Amino acid sequence: MTYPIQKTDAEWQALLREKGAEPGAFEVTRHAATERPFTGKYEGHWADGSYRCICCGAKLFDSETKFDAGCGWPSFWRAVPGAIREIEDHSHGMLRTETVCAQCGAHLGHVFPDGPGPTGLRYCMNSASLDFDPPAP
Ligand SMILES: [Zn+2]
Repeated sequence: MTYPIQKTDAEWQALLREKGAEPGAFEVTRHAATERPFTGKYEGHWADGSYRCICCGAKLFDSETKFDAGCGWPSFWRAVPGAIREIEDHSHGMLRTETVCAQCGAHLGHVFPDGPGPTGLRYCMNSASLDFDPPAP
């Protein structure tokens, strides 16, 4: 799978360090690690704004689609159209749908069919994959 934005591991590590990303951000975004629940900075974050890919800055979610799923990770019921690519994930003996950034392939989390209306989806994301962008003043 190729993505419009390609960088080496060393380049991603340098970029994430420069952005002040969470310590686990490289492992999460580039090696599909999962941060521990209730530890991410956006789990209980409810300000208005946008959530962007920590790696490439692509806009992924609007704050108005964020909801409290009680699962310990930031959850959204709708992604920005075209921003996310879904991939079947058979790891850990389960069939899940992995979500990655459509621009750079960063691992974001998984999407589950048990979210609230109107979509019925729950995008269960790692805080470490996201970068909050407040609205312009
Ligand atoms: Zn990205």
